[in-house]
Amino acid sequence: MRQFKTESKKLLDLMINSIYTNKEIFLRELISNASDAVDKLNFKSLSDDSVKLGEDDLAIRVSFDHDARTLTISDNGIGMTADELEKNLGTIAHSGSQEFKTENADSQGDAVDIIGQFGVGFYSAFMVAKHVRVVSRAYGSDEANVWESDGLEGYTIEPGERAGHGTDVILTMRDSDADANGEAGEDYDRFLTEWGLRDLIKRYSNYVRYPIQMMVSKSRQKPKPEDAGDDYKPEYESYEELETINSMTPIWKKRSSDVEQSDYNEFYKSTFHDFEDPARTISFHAEGTLEYDALLFVPGRAPFDLYSKDYEKGLALYSSNVLIMEKCADLLPDYYNFVRGVIDSADVSLNISRETLQHDRQLRAIARRVEKKITSELEDMRDNDRETYETFFENFGRGLKYGIYSSYGMKADELADLLLFWSAKERKMVTLAEYAKAMPDDQKAIYYAAGDDRDRLSKMPVVTGVLARGYDVLLLTSDIDEFTFQAMREYVAHDLPKIYEDEAAREAAAKAVADGAEPEVEDRHLELKNVAAGDLDLATEDEKKDAEEATKENEDLFEAMKSALGDKVEKVAVSARLVGEDESPACITTEGMLSLEMEKVLQRGPEGDMEGLPKSQRVLELNAKHPVFAKLVAAQKDGDTEKVERYAGLLYDQALLVEGILPEDPVAFAASVCALM
Ligand code: ADP
Repeated sequence: MRQFKTESKKLLDLMINSIYTNKEIFLRELISNASDAVDKLNFKSLSDDSVKLGEDDLAIRVSFDHDARTLTISDNGIGMTADELEKNLGTIAHSGSQEFKTENADSQGDAVDIIGQFGVGFYSAFMVAKHVRVVSRAYGSDEANVWESDGLEGYTIEPGERAGHGTDVILTMRDSDADANGEAGEDYDRFLTEWGLRDLIKRYSNYVRYPIQMMVSKSRQKPKPEDAGDDYKPEYESYEELETINSMTPIWKKRSSDVEQSDYNEFYKSTFHDFEDPARTISFHAEGTLEYDALLFVPGRAPFDLYSKDYEKGLALYSSNVLIMEKCADLLPDYYNFVRGVIDSADVSLNISRETLQHDRQLRAIARRVEKKITSELEDMRDNDRETYETFFENFGRGLKYGIYSSYGMKADELADLLLFWSAKERKMVTLAEYAKAMPDDQKAIYYAAGDDRDRLSKMPVVTGVLARGYDVLLLTSDIDEFTFQAMREYVAHDLPKIYEDEAAREAAAKAVADGAEPEVEDRHLELKNVAAGDLDLATEDEKKDAEEATKENEDLFEAMKSALGDKVEKVAVSARLVGEDESPACITTEGMLSLEMEKVLQRGPEGDMEGLPKSQRVLELNAKHPVFAKLVAAQKDGDTEKVERYAGLLYDQALLVEGILPEDPVAFAASVCALM
């Protein structure tokens, strides 16, 4: 009995006690080794005329014997001599693939790429097998040898028999129930069934470029006997047939010009279990220091669990057609979590654990490129296929907004131009760039209003007031919108016509344009302003002065109203927003960061019923032109405190009602209204 090398023993110990959480990948590892061995022979035949092979001869065969509990993976590849068996399978840290690569580096070019740089693949067999037997005959040799091991104890190598060149790896499976390591519950029997193996081959090794064949049982109708009567019932018989299980050519390796969209759609639907076609198919091939193929899909609809905790983002990661990870989360930023697809790179090491992958520099480089590509494809969709884009945005826009919000605005450069909002003026979804482009010259900010209902928002006095001044207002109806805007603080609009503060400069520029120069453009930093918060800076100087004067003149009145309302409001003042007789008598605005709408959203959230949630600082603004205002002034003059108090409460409650917030005491509100009647 020969002993494994010390470091190999440690690794083997890890393997037996399973570092891979999903043991089923052992089959992928063994098939990859078989595929490598076939690759090596194939390569030899290309570079050595004495080796004669038809491509068609090369295959990998999987078979099982349920009663004997054996699973066999056979290949007719290059095989191993006794020395190679010793060297390759006695030492885990040694990687034959690696050595072959170095040896052939000059002649090899890109003809062969061989996965596996870590040399632990083979030992994964011990995660599922209690005994492993390898029968191998090297190409060009007459002798075969048998390597055998029960695991940690060591291994033996003896002469043996094999009909041709190649290798059989024969696993005797562990028993499903009584596992020596106390891992009861692992079902090893499924590796001894046709469906179980077919499933694994399809899942992990579907795109291995040599056929993976298995004897499968099928059923067919027996020929109808000549003398069959009218009451003949068809009879069936079962038979066995060698079937190629894998599809061999990965669709992502094909040039996109050679693939029909319908084939992509089929691939997408069958692979990602969707019944709708993807909204967008993105395929590209990256070259340079890192070479890979990428095939990505933007789904046509959101999966039902997209916004649930259970949703797992990620792209399938392949190395040379072999699946390494079904959902590699590191390849996608959270805000593109809806993207499905495949990355295949021979340069990515067929590594052992999730943790190592996470820190992989190559992976990060791929992720960056993938992100850029998705962004540019979405931009293209936004500009050239708006209808599809709007549907896309309905499905996934929330994630994009959340990306800006959760990065505290850092991702705004990447994502802000992908957002769509409802324009009150245009009555359709617009981008921020489109909003900025349509602004009158004197507009300094992007105005928005936030609430649940578009119709209600569009009728709000603060909104109609801004619209009446000729400025568009974006109506934000998703609870995350305003938080996103606050994280962004501003939007930088590019290439807007330059504004000249100075008359002479404006004239000079106009003349230059008349003489054939391109009009000058500039980037403009536009603040994102809630029309119901803070000072909008929209009122004319006169309007502001009027409002200030009216506020000063009626100091007593506002004092009285404020004390009637208590700490519901910060202050009561004359509005510079509501200036028409036919506009509302009052509105509620806020000062500071938190708007009424944000307060509502927070209250609906998980901490909603907790004490101590931040409150918005409310201001009750009165319309000085409205007849109600005159009545208030009169009541104050007459010393009718009760009336002033009642009016203050009513105006406050009805202004909140307009905002979609119920009065704190609906009964009192109703009673006040009746008293007035
Ligand atoms: P890796 O494949 O990562 O190099 P493994 O532990 O899976 O590491 O295999 C060790 C070595 O054993 C391989 O590099 C290869 O040289 C040899 N080997 C394994 N399986 C076969 C096979 N089916 N045919 C020929 N050689 C094999």
